[in-house]
Amino acid sequence: MTTQIFKVGIAGVGKIARDQHIPSISESDRFELAATASRNATVGGVDGYESLESMLAARPDVTCISLCTPPQVRYADARRALLAGRHVMLEKPPGATLSEINELVSLALTQGVSLFATWHSRHAACVQMAKEWLSDKTIEKVDVIWKEDVRRWHPGQEWIWEAGGLGVFDPGINGLSVLTEIYPRAMHLSKADLSFPSNRDTPIAADLTFIDPQGVEITAAFDWRQEGEQSWDIHIQTAEGKAVLSEGGAAFSVDGVEIGRGDNLEYRHLYARFADLVAQNEIEVDLSPMTHVSDAFTLGKRLVVDPFNW
Ligand code: NAP
Repeated sequence: MTTQIFKVGIAGVGKIARDQHIPSISESDRFELAATASRNATVGGVDGYESLESMLAARPDVTCISLCTPPQVRYADARRALLAGRHVMLEKPPGATLSEINELVSLALTQGVSLFATWHSRHAACVQMAKEWLSDKTIEKVDVIWKEDVRRWHPGQEWIWEAGGLGVFDPGINGLSVLTEIYPRAMHLSKADLSFPSNRDTPIAADLTFIDPQGVEITAAFDWRQEGEQSWDIHIQTAEGKAVLSEGGAAFSVDGVEIGRGDNLEYRHLYARFADLVAQNEIEVDLSPMTHVSDAFTLGKRLVVDPFNW
């Protein structure tokens, strides 16, 4: 039996498209990168269009669209692609608001095509191991620590500081996507302190407290002012021992002993999953990480801190 190869077009040729999407597509035996849409960039050997509209009009053979643009423009592009009958993969966060993503889900259903809201960190090497380990433990406390240097990881990206760009929640939502994957119960936000630089529209740091229905306290500390060692870790205290899912989910230890470590295959897994969804015209959209972020903006206390300049 021959495997069907889907032609995919990328919109937005920026950091994540170049670092992960293009290499993952080229390694995939289920996708072929057939076109890009970008105002400024092209990819050697691939047909380039100046806009998604022109790509969609010129290339009916490109049945899958992967959106690698900032979240503020995601809805408009996704709607365009869905209306053109294409399957759509959304970078994280899946949009700028919850309601626009719900609209996209309805549209994908009406159009009979796939919509895939990706959470790449959920595909880190040890996330499923942590989920299994935690499933039968008595959880006492959870602390998510996601602290990185914005100048190192997001150089010159102005959109992250503009409304809808999420600020420190751009990486923080990755931590929440892992937490909501491994945690065995629902939780809800009970407190949030958001630190906004005086000259910016989005926060540079956030301290969140959640509780679950059984009363376990869960905290999350996000900070973009972290120099030196970077932290993308989840600490889980249980009655049976202390676990740490670290390095963004790449490593897992229990009581100080490493029991898992693996390579970063997150985007390879995302494209494999997208191919499965496309083959079945299925939709996969989990809004729980984004719901917690939205709650933080609703409930959060606003603190004004020093201005941020690159
Ligand atoms: P980026 O380097 O700034 O690239 C975004 C690209 O989108 C730009 O190169 C631009 O391409 C295009 N674009 C279209 N409309 C735009 C607008 N109004 N403002 C700015 N750019 C616009 O950003 P990125 O880091 O690749 O992030 C894109 C998405 O991927 C974000 O949602 C982010 O959270 C997610 N992501 C990023 C990373 C990472 O490590 N950077 C990791 C995982 C997920 P043209 O100028 O060519 O049109």
